[in-house]
Amino acid sequence: MKQLCFILIFSFILQQTRSQNLEPKIIAYNTLVGGVTAGIGAIINKKKDQKWHKAFAKGFVVGLGGGAIVYSGKKLNYLIAERQNLSYAWVSRAVFSAGNSIVENAAANRDFWSQWHYDVGFIRLEFKTGPFTLTPRFMPSTFGGLLFMTLNSTSFDYKTSLRSGTFTFYTDKIRYEPRLVGSTASNGFLFTDTLHSGKIFYDVYAHEMIHAFQFQEFSGINHFFDPLSNKLQEKYPFYKKLNKWIYIDASYEAMLVNYFIINQGPKGKLYCRNYLENEAEFLSVRRCACIP
Ligand SMILES: [Zn+2]
Repeated sequence: MKQLCFILIFSFILQQTRSQNLEPKIIAYNTLVGGVTAGIGAIINKKKDQKWHKAFAKGFVVGLGGGAIVYSGKKLNYLIAERQNLSYAWVSRAVFSAGNSIVENAAANRDFWSQWHYDVGFIRLEFKTGPFTLTPRFMPSTFGGLLFMTLNSTSFDYKTSLRSGTFTFYTDKIRYEPRLVGSTASNGFLFTDTLHSGKIFYDVYAHEMIHAFQFQEFSGINHFFDPLSNKLQEKYPFYKKLNKWIYIDASYEAMLVNYFIINQGPKGKLYCRNYLENEAEFLSVRRCACIP
């Protein structure tokens, strides 16, 4: 709990710093989210003979590197907007997931290359090196977010979903936030029927892709619970079996806390000051969330 408070306070301070050019702030945010979550995770998962400050330093440095790749992956979404082509979403996700995997490995205090993941909808495809295994794991919180969008939609656009590798739903009006034309409530999007093509469609799609990544960027936190999970696995064979196929994605809840509490929700003028909105808009189309 203390660690979570520390991350949220740190995130709040970083998000309050004002800058006309958002790029340095965005780079600092992404590298530090990687470094701090990985550093704290590495202390929690430190080996018995390891000193805590050495575990933190190793996790922090590797996490910074992972965070820099996370930033690059987010930024690659500008290609969707610039070239008006959704297939770049597969590329940006691959780069983002590589960085995100490095942060997770550092937080779990294991070799940074030992495990990789790529998410498709609510399924996390997990690759382990040495020996090589591929395991699909179900993400309950991400599934909940997708279910929420399914219930608010009138159709599922499988063609767009395949082109971008990200679930895309449509509706006549986004009932929970009618002023929006696109919304991300998980690893997928809900668009209004008026938005199918043209420059605005690709601009909004690139912006929403960055929100989908924001839902994963705190996944180092998921490894804060490794000692608890290991204990439960030793005690309950049933939980051990279940754990192989289910991945507890607490990073989803961390994003909700970050967006709705620290960033003070999505409404009115607060939207313009919301770091996560500014990051999504700046990296995709080089604009701030609101024109001054
Ligand atoms: Zn947005």
